[in-house]
Amino acid sequence: MQTVSRPSIASVNPATGEVVKTFEPMSAAQIEAKIAAAQQGFERNRALDFATRGRFMSKAAELLTAEKQELAKTATLEMGKTLRQAIAEVEKCALGCHYYAENAAAQLADEVVTTDAAKSLVRYQPLGVILAVMPWNFPYWQVFRFAAPALMAGNAGLLKHASNVPQCALAIESIFARSGFPPGTFGTLLIGSAAVEGVIKDSRVRAVTLTGSEYAGRSVAAQAGREIKKTVLELGGSDPFIVMPSADVAQAAETAVTARVQNNGQSCIAAKRFITATPVADEFTRRLVERFKALKVGDPMDESTDVGPLVSESSLKELDDQVQRLVQAGGKILTGGKRLERQGYYYAPTVIVDVPVDAPIAKEELFGPVAVLFRARDADDAIRIANATTFGLGSSVWTNDAIEREKFINGIEAGAVFVNGMVKSDPRLPFGGVKASGYGRELSSFGIREFVNIKSVWIGPTKT
Ligand code: NAP
Repeated sequence: MQTVSRPSIASVNPATGEVVKTFEPMSAAQIEAKIAAAQQGFERNRALDFATRGRFMSKAAELLTAEKQELAKTATLEMGKTLRQAIAEVEKCALGCHYYAENAAAQLADEVVTTDAAKSLVRYQPLGVILAVMPWNFPYWQVFRFAAPALMAGNAGLLKHASNVPQCALAIESIFARSGFPPGTFGTLLIGSAAVEGVIKDSRVRAVTLTGSEYAGRSVAAQAGREIKKTVLELGGSDPFIVMPSADVAQAAETAVTARVQNNGQSCIAAKRFITATPVADEFTRRLVERFKALKVGDPMDESTDVGPLVSESSLKELDDQVQRLVQAGGKILTGGKRLERQGYYYAPTVIVDVPVDAPIAKEELFGPVAVLFRARDADDAIRIANATTFGLGSSVWTNDAIEREKFINGIEAGAVFVNGMVKSDPRLPFGGVKASGYGRELSSFGIREFVNIKSVWIGPTKT
């Protein structure tokens, strides 16, 4: 077994550390060919009607459904999520494709507006080739939630996926190639992050979407800004999960476990900071610790596993370092707090209490199965703690008090508030963040209108 340092583009199994397959980054000539093909794909795709594109998108959904086992295994192998969750992710991609196949025509229909013109309207037209820089943590869903609306709008997509999920990236390219869309409409670039700027500078590339870390977002947005190209940024999060005295505490604690450890704790919208009102704090903590201790950590291919490995050795070291800093800031570990002594990148599900809200480490995103608990005096105090971070992606609040509920909906600085439920994305609802979590929205009618030219049409008196 090979456990050498990670080559630049490679599948490395996080459950074992084994380098499974390596890929040569594309040459300048190969990148040029991909961009040229994407431009041709765009010109043909934009000429199709919605019904035709919808048929192709439905075909993509059918392929996803038919091949979900294989696709899911590839994701589990490359980034370590449990096979069960990988299958659910592929199914969700199919749902997203169907959603836009059915709704794009209505979402992008001409909108007639009454003005001084004989007729005036708004028409939505595709922009061209859109570059998508994507993360490994939901290697299919992040891409499909961009690609389904973008292609249905008549654009072409070029994917620069994270360097550790090249086989997922190629699988997505293959699905679109077999779906009926014109050749080149969706292409995968096997390139490292240093090659992204050159692609952004290409005049055929009209806009960029990036899902990933704040660091990557800042860098890509700056490059795109210099070229005056639109960006959508879906960045990190440190979502609050608030439990108030009127809540069903048992249900909240049960959901809190899934909300924190889903995807082995590596989800942007995972609940990361648990804020409990003092009267229910002890009960919630006891229940959460009990449940964390009972989680089965192990082989992600195994049906009964709850939590698999982290994506890489460096991620594991970073998380462990953050846990040490939480302890140095005054935190007390109630369970976990260490790497598991076994092959692969496994971290024990961890619960930490007593971290001061204003400690710098309390504001960082923890990308792994680590829950940090805070106590709040009342709803206002809970909102203060919830907002004490630079991020603003999702939030979950548990209360049965109607006045309190409105207070949370209005007061929390986030792109979403879920009441008595965990944060999840749904094709019918917009998804995105505020503050350092990014800007722009994916999904729903808002998502499909991000990469279109919103063209105003004004027609004066005419003879026809
Ligand atoms: P990442 O390191 O930022 O990588 C994301 C993508 O950006 C990868 O394709 C990466 O390529 C590329 N990249 C990194 N630095 C770049 C640069 N300077 N220029 C151009 N491209 C660059 O993030 P990750 O570790 O894959 O994902 C985890 C982060 O994503 C977390 O912060 C998480 O919260 C966030 N996330 C947000 C959402 C959301 O919807 N808001 C969803 C999922 C994840 P390489 O792999 O080649 O470096």
